[in-house]
Amino acid sequence: MSNDNIVKYGYFPVPRDPDVLFKDHPTAGGPDPQQASYTLAEIPFPDSELVRRSKAFVEKKLNEPTFNHSHRVYVYGTALVKKHFPDWKYDDEAYYLSCLFHDIGTADAYLSTTKMSFEFKGGIVAREFIIQHGGEEDLADAICEAVIRHQDIFVKGGNITAIGQVLQLATIIDNVGIRANLLSTSLIEATVAAFPRLKWSGCFASVINKELALKPWCHTSTFEIPNWKEGVPSNFAGDVLKNSLMNNFE
Ligand code: ZN
Repeated sequence: MSNDNIVKYGYFPVPRDPDVLFKDHPTAGGPDPQQASYTLAEIPFPDSELVRRSKAFVEKKLNEPTFNHSHRVYVYGTALVKKHFPDWKYDDEAYYLSCLFHDIGTADAYLSTTKMSFEFKGGIVAREFIIQHGGEEDLADAICEAVIRHQDIFVKGGNITAIGQVLQLATIIDNVGIRANLLSTSLIEATVAAFPRLKWSGCFASVINKELALKPWCHTSTFEIPNWKEGVPSNFAGDVLKNSLMNNFE
């Protein structure tokens, strides 16, 4: 494995627990953090042959609300890093590919055709696609790992890769509204205008309910009571539907 790729593909370790990550943070700590405020022109999307092919692939598989969500996650995550973690110098393409593929496992082509949890299937689909289309193995592995771990939000100890952490922070902002105060309202407004939510909260809640019903063993069940059974309302779907901040933009 190339040592250069540890930084380039965002492998460098950061604390998994955001409470640890943000404790005594100079710009993002405390109850009144500074906000990342950028125009969308300041957060351009990476462009390469691999990006274009990946984007075409996921756009065909995902529904429009999920495709738009994946782009908001890129904008929110990149803004967070630009403002609050300026020394995290990974290649934006690695994070953009992670965003594009992170929910590919929820596509109709995969969610009910595999018994595997959607994050794991999605990580494998992403890894195979990236290698088949000329991406380095270190890049494919970085994306695979970030996608597999992107809903591991109850892990308190240890570390995660930097792009894995950014993907977690940004998806939670868009899905549940947690730590959205790290971003300016103008940035959120511009992002939802460019990539409309199209009732994303309801769309994602229905995916959660569908996967729980199909695969009660799935990774998403970690959000639920032990021994969760069909008929018990999902905590996670409930939290997604209660996203009071983002629901203003539905
Ligand atoms: Zn997502």
